[in-house]
Amino acid sequence: MDNVAVVVVGAGQAGLSSAYHLRRSGFEPGVDFVVLDHAPAPGGAWQFRWPTLTYGRVHGMHALPGMELTGADPERPSSKVIGEYFAAYERAFDLRVRRPVDVREVRDAGWGGRLLVRTSEGDWAAQAVINATGTWDRPFWPRIPGQEVFRGRQLHTAQYPGPRADAFVGKRVVVVGGGTSAVQHLMEIAEVATETLWVTRRPPLFRTGSFGEEEGRAAVALVEERVREGLPPRSVVSVTGLPMTEQVRRARESGVLERHPMFARLTEDGVEWADGSRAPADTVLWATGFRPVIDHLAPLRLREAGGGIRLEGTRVTRDPRVHLVGYGPSASTIGANRAGRSAVRDVRALLAAAQRQESAGSASAG
Ligand SMILES: Cc1cc2nc3c(=O)[nH]c(=O)nc-3n(C[C@H](O)[C@H](O)[C@H](O)COP(=O)(O)OP(=O)(O)OC[C@H]3O[C@@H](n4cnc5c(N)ncnc54)[C@H](O)[C@@H]3O)c2cc1C
Repeated sequence: MDNVAVVVVGAGQAGLSSAYHLRRSGFEPGVDFVVLDHAPAPGGAWQFRWPTLTYGRVHGMHALPGMELTGADPERPSSKVIGEYFAAYERAFDLRVRRPVDVREVRDAGWGGRLLVRTSEGDWAAQAVINATGTWDRPFWPRIPGQEVFRGRQLHTAQYPGPRADAFVGKRVVVVGGGTSAVQHLMEIAEVATETLWVTRRPPLFRTGSFGEEEGRAAVALVEERVREGLPPRSVVSVTGLPMTEQVRRARESGVLERHPMFARLTEDGVEWADGSRAPADTVLWATGFRPVIDHLAPLRLREAGGGIRLEGTRVTRDPRVHLVGYGPSASTIGANRAGRSAVRDVRALLAAAQRQESAGSASAG
């Protein structure tokens, strides 16, 4: 078993920001800390996003600390642009990310205040764990009666291949969900499908006014409040509303973004509302979001009665050796950058306190 000061789980924006700040604080990659990631290549979740999500279509992507992303072609898929940028970043700062390494569980090691990180490639003991596993690997599928009898196709955003797939071309497509992904899917699919129908649980809220730093901070503060109370985080979009771009305005005018309330069940060949009205469908696309990937932390029993994990900053209240970055209020590229910095500051204080305790212990023993 390898012994390190810090294990960083995940090499997306949040994990790489953490690794950068660890390195800047004098921790040696591969010796004092390791970054473990189960994806096959650099890029975090970006590497899996659909090809029509070009770099030009991504709004508000913040570069990682210490290295700008310049001169990217806005027509190229963001999966490629960001994958290459992350790869260059890992090389530039010699972060030595180990992949593919799947972290299966994190538990108390039972000795020396250490955590035990069990992986597909062996075990690590660590004084602290910075968890940066994002949400992509846990797509959320709501349970709706009839899902098993529907004879068409059902897909989630996590599997969205872009609009020019058999599931959409010339088909009647129902898109479920009130977030940015649903809006983007609809605008693309409407161009190739016979018919599209947008269904959301709550009426979507389009943001028409300006959205500056102050509004951003206020939105993040709302998500933060839930996390401080130990409740499951909500997405930042759920509090910011949907951005009203020129393309969205046109799609609304043409009727593509006309919203219908959530249906009650799926039938063999479509969807049915509680009042008995029906709409035929060949494909249902669930753009219903993602949940934090934290099952591997279950042995630590970090959850509160409210179902969430209570944080102070990025530090888990129930176990201060564990930090969650890219989680809840820091689930954006800018939030992930800041969370990495804040987690490292905190971990350094934790390690310094442990060191003082050890020194005091050995002095009194001597
Ligand atoms: C479609 C879409 C568009 C977005 N657009 C924007 C935008 O325009 N601007 C913006 O600011 N934000 C955007 N976001 C949000 C943004 O992508 C993320 O919040 C941000 O990239 C932070 O990433 P992360 O590091 O937390 O997670 P990820 O990028 O998901 O990285 C997590 C990493 O952890 C690894 N991992 C997970 N579990 C394990 C495990 N058990 N063992 C080992 N490794 C593991 C994964 O392989 C992955 O590499 C978007 C999100 C989506 C879904």
